[in-house]
Amino acid sequence: MPGKIQVRLGERSYPILFGGDLSAQVRALAQRLLRGGRRIAIVTDSNVASVHAAALKDLFAGAPALAIAPGEESKSLPELGRALDFLAAHGLDRSGAIFAVGGGVVGDLAGFAAATYLRGIDYYQVPTTLLAMVDSSVGGKTAVNLKAGKNLAGAFHQPRGVFVSTGFLATLPAREFAAGMAEVVKSALLGDRRLFGELERAALTADDRRLSSTIRRCCAIKAGLVEADERETAGKGGRALLNLGHTFAHAIEQVAGYGEYLHGEAVAVGLCAAARLSRRLGLIGEADCARVERVVSSHSLPTRLRSPLGLPALIAAMARDKKSRAGSMRLVVLRRLGVAAVRSGVPAGAVESVWNEVGSA
Ligand code: ADP
Ligand code: ZN
Repeated sequence: MPGKIQVRLGERSYPILFGGDLSAQVRALAQRLLRGGRRIAIVTDSNVASVHAAALKDLFAGAPALAIAPGEESKSLPELGRALDFLAAHGLDRSGAIFAVGGGVVGDLAGFAAATYLRGIDYYQVPTTLLAMVDSSVGGKTAVNLKAGKNLAGAFHQPRGVFVSTGFLATLPAREFAAGMAEVVKSALLGDRRLFGELERAALTADDRRLSSTIRRCCAIKAGLVEADERETAGKGGRALLNLGHTFAHAIEQVAGYGEYLHGEAVAVGLCAAARLSRRLGLIGEADCARVERVVSSHSLPTRLRSPLGLPALIAAMARDKKSRAGSMRLVVLRRLGVAAVRSGVPAGAVESVWNEVGSA
């Protein structure tokens, strides 16, 4: 299994390590930190803590561990407060370090705690979901949700290292695996035409021999975009391309009510919507659009809304999305399969037609 990608961000550079089982590496790091007189704390959720109890004990013997309740509701200010109090209660000082062991929820919350505790301490990502492995554990976006919306309070704070141990995926529920695949398809569509072709030839499964190398390719694409545009400030391209399908997806999540769609499921519909929009704008053809839908559905993901959502609410949610800029719709589109671009001034009519095509009411 291919080993390592270095995310090059000057003094904030860090490695992403890949392997079926990286426990030796994680254990060695934890022990090195402890031997150097640094305290460590683990943040995980109660599912991961029970399913992988033995692994956690083996990796971090005796280190204090905070297991949050699983689910998006834990990405909250009260939970952030509890995490910060936990670090303080265990006496972490500025040399302390956090290990985030879990999915995107754990990574975002632990990362934000690391960003703010004592004005910032080190943290390491040990993702245990496919989604976190290919997307959220890399790039240093940390956040919690506010009542007004998702990820509205947060910070850029890069991890010091990411350990992608694919063995964790053996216990991941099928629905969560499929949701992670939406971000894999996204990565292929925005930056790896060959990967798209491979997913098209045969759907990727949890026990697939291609799994590790596929995750690695997704991380390579993300690392490249993060290196070019660490804080998503580039006018064109850069990190914003990672939002392919996401303006649609966020609207779906918000209008359907959080929890109706897993993030990845909403992204799946969003990718199909982005492809349809690209077709309406004359960038790709009908055949390419159909290819995107086939790859999405062959990975057990929805291509249309499961039940109709109101068009006005979807449009209003899109306008509120923090990625859109006043006045005109600014969306990521496909120039062709494998190449994405940011388009501003997308006509509202085109967006409305696309919503109708994917099943709005
Ligand atoms: P995501 O990574 O998709 O953002 P979450 O952090 O909410 O999502 O994790 C999704 C769900 O999967 C949670 O209920 C979490 O407890 C559970 N989970 C995470 N990793 C594993 C694993 N390796 N095995 C089983 N369940 C897991
Ligand atoms: Zn996403």
